[in-house]
Amino acid sequence: MSIFADLADCAIENEPMSRHTWFKLGGPARYFIRPRDEAQLLEVIKRCRENDIEMYVLGRGSNLLVADEGVDGAVIHLGDRNFGALDIDEKEATVNVGAGASLNRVLQMCVRQGLSGMECLVGIPGSVGGSVKINAGGRFGDIGNVCRKIRLIDSSGYQFERERDDIYFGYRMTNIMARFVVDVEFQLAPDDPNRIARLLKEIWLLKKNSQPTDTRNAGCIFKNPRALSAGALIDKAGLKGFSIGGASVSTRHANFIVATDGATARDVMNLIDYIRQKVSERFEVDLETEVEIWK
Ligand SMILES: Cc1cc2nc3c(=O)[nH]c(=O)nc-3n(C[C@H](O)[C@H](O)[C@H](O)COP(=O)(O)OP(=O)(O)OC[C@H]3O[C@@H](n4cnc5c(N)ncnc54)[C@H](O)[C@@H]3O)c2cc1C
Repeated sequence: MSIFADLADCAIENEPMSRHTWFKLGGPARYFIRPRDEAQLLEVIKRCRENDIEMYVLGRGSNLLVADEGVDGAVIHLGDRNFGALDIDEKEATVNVGAGASLNRVLQMCVRQGLSGMECLVGIPGSVGGSVKINAGGRFGDIGNVCRKIRLIDSSGYQFERERDDIYFGYRMTNIMARFVVDVEFQLAPDDPNRIARLLKEIWLLKKNSQPTDTRNAGCIFKNPRALSAGALIDKAGLKGFSIGGASVSTRHANFIVATDGATARDVMNLIDYIRQKVSERFEVDLETEVEIWK
């Protein structure tokens, strides 16, 4: 009998990860668990630990490539509404948000409330937890700039908080080692809602015009090497439009890989390896993946 049998309302076995990633790729997770609340999350962590089951934390799957063979462990998804609560302190201009909330929802609320500071995150289809964990952002700023406090749970079930100054927010990385970001407090600044909406629109249009929106992708595949653009290197290596199986380098933005019908995660991985090899041969630059690969 499954060790999660009595949690049947939140745990299933052999759930295809293709249902939970933006690439729509990935084989089954041995266990797929969507705890209803924090107490149940702690129970799930305890059982994983006692039974030596590897834990994987899933946000909105927008920065993930999961192998066709799937994941031999428990994929834990903080998708219940209890992990997506949003609480505003107008006087302090702070917003406390559950890790499962979508960034998009937070941005919409910021516009309505006239709170500025997160506009640079428009167009990022992730959850608050996943975005904080990897310090999502772009050329106009990143989420770390507005984080004030983070509540975390580690893989032993220990719960604790970290203040802004305790956390290092680097380029698409942080020093957060705890397995679960549970909620985050953002420090924003009051501003005119119309001005915030205008800025959001401007940044969104810039992205929309340069990225293959409406395709199956996971955002930028590679981090930009110091002072260089990964997309420009891939483009100069002549790889725009290049395909392996059902995976292609986007013709719109060379740092995006687009999955088409029939694509496998293996196709995407082979294309990643091929791009790295060609860029290394041509420019002597080693590209590091920004997308996270579960295999
Ligand atoms: C069209 C498109 C555009 C994008 N544009 C950008 C962009 O401009 N800038 C940018 O930075 N990214 C961009 N991305 C990538 C992606 O949206 C971001 O990295 C996003 O922050 C990932 O959040 P997620 O919830 O989807 O995380 P996931 O992909 O589910 O997971 C990513 C990582 O975060 C971890 N994680 C998830 N939730 C939690 C949690 N609660 N606690 C601890 N760890 C957690 C996962 O274990 C994994 O390691 C884009 C993606 C797409 C598809």
